[in-house]
Amino acid sequence: MTESVMTINGEAVTGDRTFEVIDPATGTPMGAAPQCSPAQLDLAMGSAQRALRPWASDHETRRKAMHEAAELMRRAAPELGPLFTQEQGSPVQAAVGQLMISADWLDYFADLELPAKTVRTYPDRTIEVSRRPVGVVAAITPWNAPVLLAMWKIAPALAAGATMVLKPSPYTPLTTLALGQVFSAALPLGVLNIVSGLEPLGQQLVSHPTPRKIAFTGSIPTGKAVAVAAAEDLKRVTLELGGNDAAIVLDDADIDRIVEPLFFSAFANSGQICEATKRVYVPERLYGRLLDALADRARSARVGHGLEPDVELGPLTTHFQRDHVEDLVQDAKAGGATIAAGGHRIAGDGYFFEPTIIGDVEDGVRIVDEEQFGPALPVIAYKDVDEAVRRANATMYGLAGSVWSSDLDRARAVAVRLEVGRVKINGGGLPSPEAPFGGVKWSGVGVENGPWGLEEYTDLHVTEIGAGAQ
Ligand code: NAD
Repeated sequence: MTESVMTINGEAVTGDRTFEVIDPATGTPMGAAPQCSPAQLDLAMGSAQRALRPWASDHETRRKAMHEAAELMRRAAPELGPLFTQEQGSPVQAAVGQLMISADWLDYFADLELPAKTVRTYPDRTIEVSRRPVGVVAAITPWNAPVLLAMWKIAPALAAGATMVLKPSPYTPLTTLALGQVFSAALPLGVLNIVSGLEPLGQQLVSHPTPRKIAFTGSIPTGKAVAVAAAEDLKRVTLELGGNDAAIVLDDADIDRIVEPLFFSAFANSGQICEATKRVYVPERLYGRLLDALADRARSARVGHGLEPDVELGPLTTHFQRDHVEDLVQDAKAGGATIAAGGHRIAGDGYFFEPTIIGDVEDGVRIVDEEQFGPALPVIAYKDVDEAVRRANATMYGLAGSVWSSDLDRARAVAVRLEVGRVKINGGGLPSPEAPFGGVKWSGVGVENGPWGLEEYTDLHVTEIGAGAQ
């Protein structure tokens, strides 16, 4: 059993109470995390507030400390990987990979600057525009990619000169808590505080008077509640929310070539990725071939405990999520859909579900219209590409999408028509630190990553210099 501590003002802090963390592969407790009390949250916020001025005023200290934190994170990755797997379920290679790659965000943002600009020079005065750190940030992360999504907040916030109190999901708090201790060797006291707890801790972070910004990744309903609560105090928000990403296969796609990347675009992390492919639109002519090819691939996927060698897909992270996926699959089946592969939970105490491919299904069925966030993929036949684009866009989700074709120009022409933040053509890897990531419509407000993501942790500041000063 892993016992964890919070990091408040650089110190390791336990709680008066703890809560259990479950290994989703076995359904049994594998660790415990402290429940942050309101008084401890006040201490964390106070320490972030005190750290703000010195941190904001010294760019070189920030740069050095962030590079050092990145190095410490890489060194800790092999040891933290198994902990990540035990609380979240991912295969351990993917867990270590997520820790290693997340460190790149610290390096990238450490060296990224937002220089002041002179925007107008009059005979008698000059106007300059610069950016100031937004202040203390409250950050809240989900359970599906706890480390990467924490780093998408920590790295730009710290680079901008802001300080932070971060709360991971209570389903997967342990790796993030452990990182708090790793980082405390590199960061000044109070710059990054990590607290844990069951609700209402998230609500307490959002309504606390200290933070000036909320950086949130999670579901659309919670994101809306966060936006409402933040509005009470006119706090800034970045909301990275759910998606229902469509993959549009064009009629010239090479099915043999696309089946593997298309499968993993939907099933990596057992489908628990905000920008996973969640529905596939394929021309009627290719429908049967693609359905069979995806079903074959799903049946051959190696599902198991992420600590076992060669496992491709782990369990769902929570039993709620497994039940949700099962419910959507049952609903589709009851409505006449064909289950081309999988379709059932896997017997045992872990939260496993068979990789599932669903055919004979249309828009209007829940598994097509809602975010399944799990290993069950509907494949939908279409007549012409205008219809496919219309159906892909006929939703309030707008996170990402993909187009699959042998002709790049045709693929691009479809890509620009998708009402989303990011479109991948013939595949798509992990978002990069340099490019903005965010959704349109209900998939989010604001972006993370790149200079645009850094700007989200700043306020604009105009200085006007009169002739008398020259
Ligand atoms: P969730 O909304 O249930 O929880 C997210 C976080 O919010 C957790 O830390 C939770 O404890 C906290 N929380 C819960 N209620 C709160 C409240 N009232 N106020 C403040 N905080 C509160 O989401 P989840 O189930 O953990 O994550 C899955 C969802 O996240 C999916 O919809 C997925 O698409 C989305 N997601 C989006 C992105 C993105 O970048 N757009 C990335 C990953 C996941």
